[in-house]
Amino acid sequence: MGNISPRYRVPKEIRTIADVLRRKGRKTYIVGGALRDHFLGRGETNDIDLATDATPTEILELFPRVIPTGIKHGTVTILLRALQVEMTTLRVEKGYSDGRRPDSIDFVKDIAEDLSRRDFTMNAMALEVPSEEFFDPFSGRIDIGNKKIRSVGNAAARFTEDGLRPLRAIRFAAQLGFDIDDDTLSAIPPSIPTFRKVSAERIRDEFGKLLVSTRPASGLALLEATGLLSEILPELVPARGCLQKGLHAYDVLDHLFLAVQASPPDLGLRLAALFHDAGKPASMILGENDIPSFHGHEVISETLALRAMRRLRFPNDTIARVCHLIAQHMFHYGPEWTDAAVRRFIARAGVDSIEDLLYLRIADTAATAGTAPDPYSVEDFRNRIVSVKSKDSAFRIKDLAINGNDLAAIGFPRGPAMGRILNELLETVLDDPDQNTIEKLSNIATSLRDRLGLSNKI
Ligand code: ATP
Ligand code: MG
Repeated sequence: MGNISPRYRVPKEIRTIADVLRRKGRKTYIVGGALRDHFLGRGETNDIDLATDATPTEILELFPRVIPTGIKHGTVTILLRALQVEMTTLRVEKGYSDGRRPDSIDFVKDIAEDLSRRDFTMNAMALEVPSEEFFDPFSGRIDIGNKKIRSVGNAAARFTEDGLRPLRAIRFAAQLGFDIDDDTLSAIPPSIPTFRKVSAERIRDEFGKLLVSTRPASGLALLEATGLLSEILPELVPARGCLQKGLHAYDVLDHLFLAVQASPPDLGLRLAALFHDAGKPASMILGENDIPSFHGHEVISETLALRAMRRLRFPNDTIARVCHLIAQHMFHYGPEWTDAAVRRFIARAGVDSIEDLLYLRIADTAATAGTAPDPYSVEDFRNRIVSVKSKDSAFRIKDLAINGNDLAAIGFPRGPAMGRILNELLETVLDDPDQNTIEKLSNIATSLRDRLGLSNKI
């Protein structure tokens, strides 16, 4: 079947695995992304998928460090030194009555049969190790040369088997800068009923890869054009056609797409960019001359993002980070800000989120006018923050010269009231850092206690 480019260097670990299997009369093939990325000239990857005619049970017996990741579907993970290798027993899938998983799988002996169940021609190539015989029954290598994503076999039929494949096609288009072949693309809209059956976790993983790809804006545009966007994120639908006037060159949805594109390829930042103005349509009020205003939109944006991310089962720490960034994205720094204003910003944003918020602002500005991201646009604010931070100040309750135990020692009741007092003390110190001594704060706390009427509870 022709030889693969001699430049492909099979990693030593893979040869070791293949040797072990060969001694048992079993075959080993490199499949999937590693070969695709090789032909793309993307260099070597540590994420290698293997196929074999050995059964999962045999593999478990042959290798000491194996995790039975998806053993029901014939997939295990072999750990070899620093490498993690997914190994799948050659198989075909039978019947997809639920559009999400095969009714049954059959292990097969023939690599060509295994390749025929794979999603796209560029992912349906195999290289046998150690013979280095190359299998490319669907001309994936030619499609890679033409930058085409093409279903293996009939696209409509393949999308009805597994509704995730349309999203994978668009994810690969965004990652690789490929076009989706016409027949494959036009099979996407009719496959939406099958897409609806796909689990949230699988959608989340593919959508996340799309977001952190090099061309997320064109990926998002493809999702919209094929009808998938409103399936994945109905929260964004009202943003289409929501015009902003003023400095804005785009409607809210294009602004969001461009903000994602202009953000660094970090999942949390890109999710925050995608949702930061999603609440604008719901908060819009038309003023004089039909100029819209969007007061409080960040609160609605945060709610919409929270709902969407929970539905897609993003991890809680991702959700918390994204929500915080959205809630805090509306700041308007100017040189007239006092040091106290800068300190309050740092306290509200949280020291660890400041860089993220600045990245988001750079992206937001770029996506307003359609210009390139300009890191220097936030330089004045960043310098100001650095200088204010360098003056030994308190930005969090735990930076205060006094703590809950100190307050308890001078007779304060523990509980929510103490939390309120500590918050008040932090506000005081943000206004005037000179107040951050134990004597001054105890005095302030005592007078606050009297004013809040807490004294009689002691
Ligand atoms: P990545 O670089 O993102 O890991 P990949 O092509 O290796 O890309 P995987 O999800 O790791 O993608 O899948 C490995 C291989 O398994 C694919 O190359 C493809 O041959 C096959 N495959 C994965 N998902 C599907 C699917 N939903 N339907 C059919 N084949 C699939
Ligand atoms: Mg892979």
